[in-house]
Amino acid sequence: MFKEIRKRLFINNAIVLALILISSATIMRLIFVRNLHQNLREQLVATAQGLSIEMELDNQGKPEIESAFLSQLSITKDQSFEWFDAQGKSIATKGLFFPDIPLPQQAKINFQNVDNSVSIVTLPIKDGNTNTVIGYVRVSALLDELEATIWQLDLGLGAGVLAAIAMGSIGIVWLNQQAMQPIEASFQRLKQFTADASHELRSPLMAISSNVEVSLKYSEGMREEDHEAMLAVTSATDQMIKLTEDLLFLARTDQVYNHEKILINLSKLLTDLLQLYTAQANSKQLQLITDIEQNLFCKGNIIHLTRAFTNLLQNAIRYTPENGKITIRAKSLEDFVEICFIDTGIGIDSSNLKNIFERFWRADEVRNYDDSGSGLGLSITQAIIATHGGRIDVISELGKGSCFIVELPRDTSCS
Ligand code: ADP
Repeated sequence: MFKEIRKRLFINNAIVLALILISSATIMRLIFVRNLHQNLREQLVATAQGLSIEMELDNQGKPEIESAFLSQLSITKDQSFEWFDAQGKSIATKGLFFPDIPLPQQAKINFQNVDNSVSIVTLPIKDGNTNTVIGYVRVSALLDELEATIWQLDLGLGAGVLAAIAMGSIGIVWLNQQAMQPIEASFQRLKQFTADASHELRSPLMAISSNVEVSLKYSEGMREEDHEAMLAVTSATDQMIKLTEDLLFLARTDQVYNHEKILINLSKLLTDLLQLYTAQANSKQLQLITDIEQNLFCKGNIIHLTRAFTNLLQNAIRYTPENGKITIRAKSLEDFVEICFIDTGIGIDSSNLKNIFERFWRADEVRNYDDSGSGLGLSITQAIIATHGGRIDVISELGKGSCFIVELPRDTSCS
């Protein structure tokens, strides 16, 4: 049980940690990439502004760039500069690559991005006196370097997040262990208390039961009312003995199972069990149908598995009204043996299905229908199936019937 809780706690905490780390890394990346682009644009604007002042008007009022300036101008291989006249006609260039896109002829600065590989800034150049546009300067920069920086950032962040998740997971395991230790200890104490109390109650109950039995054996001369009272005491004591035995069994389930696992022929176990209960089913005119595959084997404790299946069969008989039908089906499914107990009984309300494996839980309808149960049978059955590495599930409809499905790991060494 605690293994499952620890596993779930670990998964939930690890998911939360991973989500926090991934979203923080994503936000950091977004901000960083945005700043990188912003910086590059600012650099391009500054360069364009520097280049714009080199455009002058010649005698005929045409814009020109001095060839001496062009030849002295130093440029990196991932940049290119272009100058255009007011009509968008190229008048000078410097660089190795030039974007093949139309020039935006606007009176204000323009930013463009081509296929996420080139960033372009186009700056209109205005005449100082008339404030009219006399030309444009276009500065382009390849984004290779920036992309490489982003790629390194991604690698760094990815590795950082993975390392943080790995270290965080170790921390989570340790913290969970610290948190679970006192809970586990108090649960063990409670379990021990239940086991001790049940054990201590058993002896006086046995004594009452045997004394009443003796009194009933020699009941001649006993008044009718006293005889009935004695019978009621026997019934109540038997019920209490069963209850203490069930509680003791539940308290000890974990310890009982780690040893004595033998090969069990489930087909035989179920067939024998059905034979045992045929008379009881007949007394209620219940039709018992069996569909059990031969040679279904599993490893486990035969006494406990018999107990688990007995609980399911007894419930099916107990909660199915006269003339009903009970089907027991067992078949192999890949690695599992599937055993179904299907009845046409009173059924269970869908809102109650989640409770039926809880200790002492009984449906309200059942209390009116049959008051002999304790509500521990299914808890015991579930504990037995779980300790055999299997699972139990239920499908039911109120007023129509129930189907309890047990899956146990199949042993194939004999088939
Ligand atoms: P008990 O039968 O002693 O009450 P169980 O733990 O075996 O205790 O069952 C718990 C409850 O689940 C029952 O009280 C009943 O409400 C419901 N239940 C179990 N089996 C069936 C069934 N075959 N049909 C209808 N209800 C069932």
